[in-house]
Amino acid sequence: NPTLQLTGITKAYNHGKPNEVNVLQGVDLTVEKGEIVALVAPSGAGKSTLLHIAGLLDTPDSGTVTINGDDMTGKSDSRRTAMRRDGVGFIYQFHHLLPEFTALENIVLPQLANGIAQKEAEARALELLGNVGVAERADHRPAALSGGEQQRVAFCRALANRPTLLLADEPTGNLDPGTSDRVFGALMDLVRGTGLAAVIATHNLELAARMDRTVHLTAGKLTHGE
Ligand code: ADP
Ligand code: ADP
Repeated sequence: NPTLQLTGITKAYNHGKPNEVNVLQGVDLTVEKGEIVALVAPSGAGKSTLLHIAGLLDTPDSGTVTINGDDMTGKSDSRRTAMRRDGVGFIYQFHHLLPEFTALENIVLPQLANGIAQKEAEARALELLGNVGVAERADHRPAALSGGEQQRVAFCRALANRPTLLLADEPTGNLDPGTSDRVFGALMDLVRGTGLAAVIATHNLELAARMDRTVHLTAGKLTHGE
């Protein structure tokens, strides 16, 4: 089974009102295990809406979202939440780390919430931090880290519970170009090292070119590049 399969996804806001906006108008997307897909879209095209639907944070008006062969259409909120907690990792443009906790704790906490023992969670967090080159910053709070370091910690947190699907919305969009390039490289290494499927939204065509293929979202539809 593909990790993610979207078929015929439609989504409108403000149904029946003068300001109705048909954001998604029949989106199909299949992402196989180990595949990294760049999602390129002009601002306002519906990129966040699409990522939220794929990550079960929002429901489409029609169409199906299937994750690891499990059709989530019409499933209860608790089933969807369980799949999201267990199977999906999110990365946002801004890291949203918890400011009162250290880098390590930010990666440990979601594991504890998932029933992992403290020691095992800490070992996993340290390993992940090591993979992105910030292990020596494990005991610092976010405010003591650079923007690039904070975002690397956020990558680790997204992968803490070993999701099968990673969804990222402009994951390096808030960093200066040089930092963005290096931090993005760390993300690519991390994702390739785990073999999970990823959809990574970016405006940056050079970053998009480093992924396996690119899809463009325009006028409510996806067009597939190489
Ligand atoms: P992107 O992430 O590509 O910038 P979004 O998915 O955030 O786009 O939004 C797509 C369009 O839908 C925009 O025109 C936006 O204003 C509109 N939109 C997004 N969320 C809502 C909402 N909750 N209610 C009404 N309109 C919305
Ligand atoms: P964090 O970035 O630390 O994960 P969030 O508040 O963004 O913090 O996410 C906390 C939980 O809420 C996550 O489990 C995620 O699945 C969910 N979540 C994230 N973004 C949204 C959203 N836009 N709407 C609803 N739930 C969300």
